[in-house]
Amino acid sequence: MPVPSQQIRYILSGGGDGWEILHRARQLAAAGDPPLNLCVGEHDEPTPPEILAAMDASARGGHTGYAGLAGTPGLRRALAERVSARQGVPVGPSNIVVTGGGQGALFYALNAMLDPGDAAVVIDPYYTVYPGTIRTAGGVPRIARARTENGFQPDFATLDAACDGAKALLVNTPNNPTGAIYSGETLEMIAEICIRRDLWLISDEVYDGMSFARPHRSPAALPGMAERTVVVGSMSKSYAMCGFRCGWAAGPEGLIKLMTDLALNVAYGQPGFVMDAAEFALGRPDIEARICGTFARRHEIARRALAGAQAARAGASDGAMYLMIDIRPTGLSGRDFARLMIEEERIAVMPGESFGEAAAGHVRATLTLPDDQLHTALTRLAEVAGDLAAGRRAAPAA
Ligand code: PLP
Repeated sequence: MPVPSQQIRYILSGGGDGWEILHRARQLAAAGDPPLNLCVGEHDEPTPPEILAAMDASARGGHTGYAGLAGTPGLRRALAERVSARQGVPVGPSNIVVTGGGQGALFYALNAMLDPGDAAVVIDPYYTVYPGTIRTAGGVPRIARARTENGFQPDFATLDAACDGAKALLVNTPNNPTGAIYSGETLEMIAEICIRRDLWLISDEVYDGMSFARPHRSPAALPGMAERTVVVGSMSKSYAMCGFRCGWAAGPEGLIKLMTDLALNVAYGQPGFVMDAAEFALGRPDIEARICGTFARRHEIARRALAGAQAARAGASDGAMYLMIDIRPTGLSGRDFARLMIEEERIAVMPGESFGEAAAGHVRATLTLPDDQLHTALTRLAEVAGDLAAGRRAAPAA
């Protein structure tokens, strides 16, 4: 028998099944007993009908053939304008490649930066697919742990040590899974390390519309960074277009050219009608403001639901669609607490351990339920954590 690729078999190595709770939630829903689901980073509202109409008109108008490797000229222009304004880096269409979601941009960027065996650093807790995407590019993931006590901002000594001898650093602000927004000092520290150690930076900013506590800032805008940074963006989160699989990478022209060569050999470009829908959406900032505003409101609701809870403490989450909740006073791991919540309360949250070791003893809640259900779910979660911590409720046998 021929042997499959070692590299691809190794993609998921080292991780447990972080999606166990999500699978269970889906199983319960299929059996007619759906939990309140705070597991998935996907909107509870559908894609706005105006965007669907734009896609429909484009497809019916005939834009159903191969549509250009790096993206349509119109979308690349619209994205260049957006990145120039939002990220604060003056770019043109030749600095943009349209990809299959932000995920596609991560894949292209890592492949364009890494040679086999090169190390790329990720900050723990991390978006679950980062290590696997690095491995897919032949790279070796290295972990720099951030601490809950620091609001999940990385600290200099840990990050600098992890970057020793690495080729690339991957950061994400506003952050999934923590909801943290990196401070100005954190961004400057990241830039200093990248320049001194001559690293590529991938700055995953797919939540750049959801920076609620302060205006969004990109490390790409800091002096000396534009030439070594690829900004990853996406229509998925800001426009409720997850299933459209439309994202982009913005970066130095030479690297974008390599990524476009990859696009030729991987996907042969993205669908024209999807790109036309994205271009339409980018011309409607009111849609982005409304969708992102929902999550600003829900951060407030979540904070109110957990206010005063001693055993379920909301972390410094003021961006994206996530809240990391510290449940260590219960004495349970995030995994055991999440299991108890779904089995006994029908509330689904992700164990912090699914995102690395730094979030052990935490659970991540996505703010993707209608306001009243979100409030109910988090109020109940806080009560259960309080009862466990006070010994009023027994932890289930392992
Ligand atoms: N980056 C982060 C931090 C994410 O949370 C996600 C999705 O959840 C992505 C990238 C990929 O999103 P998409 O491929 O839908 O654009």
